[in-house]
Amino acid sequence: MESSRTTAPYKILLFYKYVDIADPDTLADSLRTLAKELNLTGRILIATEGINGTVEGDVESTKIFAQRLLENPLFSDVCVKLSEGTGDAFPKLSVKVRNEIVGTRYPQEDAYPQMRTAPRITAEELRDWFERGEEFEIVDMRNDYEFASGHFKGSIDPGMQASRDLPEKLPLLEPLKKKKVLTVCTGGIRCEKMSAYLLNNGFEDVYQLEDGIHGYMQKYPGKDFVGALYTFDKRKTMHFGDGEENGQKIEREIVGTCYLCGDKTEEYVNCGNDYCHRHFLACLNCQTGERTFCSELCMETSSALPQ
Ligand SMILES: [Zn+2]
Ligand SMILES: [Zn+2]
Repeated sequence: MESSRTTAPYKILLFYKYVDIADPDTLADSLRTLAKELNLTGRILIATEGINGTVEGDVESTKIFAQRLLENPLFSDVCVKLSEGTGDAFPKLSVKVRNEIVGTRYPQEDAYPQMRTAPRITAEELRDWFERGEEFEIVDMRNDYEFASGHFKGSIDPGMQASRDLPEKLPLLEPLKKKKVLTVCTGGIRCEKMSAYLLNNGFEDVYQLEDGIHGYMQKYPGKDFVGALYTFDKRKTMHFGDGEENGQKIEREIVGTCYLCGDKTEEYVNCGNDYCHRHFLACLNCQTGERTFCSELCMETSSALPQ
């Protein structure tokens, strides 16, 4: 008898690569056709600088999609990450050609990972750094609302609302210029450019975490990372079960706090004021009616607006 936990009928695939793509439109057309045939949902972004995708489908279809992707010589070394799906993580399929595969708007001379990016360390190496008491600082390259529900113990949140905010946050990170710095993000893609950006702006000793926080949590559930990992799909957050240390179960800690009352929560909402739309943590007690507002001002100005 197999338990239902291990036989979830849906899988989510995550993959990305910075690589020069001569004809993004043709590639987008062929991947869209394939994904439609396989009934996949999710998002794939393609640019001349690379590919970035998250798709969900049944076990067999996601397997076929991954195989076909890896058959393309451009992507033969792409690491496709798997996680359990829900069957409705994404509302639809969207395959788009964009200027960038992560919206950073950094000038190319500041961040062109094909030319220069920080050396990668594996989850095992990071675990080793922790155990040896290595001196380093972790800079979390995710947005501040992602950091809010979970992060590596002692890591630094530069306070970005979006990846394009890094240049304006640089002065805050100035004291780290001569220190050993490790950048982290969900799956590794944002660090490719953001660690490059740091290197090209005078940071001397920068590393990036290969496969990101997701990869680390899969290998070391319940260790060094507190809270839950934010995801950009319907799941909102994911965790990897409780950890274990010397045969003792370590219960997962909730570190997210309600933006409105300060209670512990991992529930996200968007501000009900359409001109704000801030994404924030709000506990169930503070979620009111159809719309929850991030501030009194947002509540008042929202009701004053023509409906
Ligand atoms: Zn609350
Ligand atoms: Zn608001």
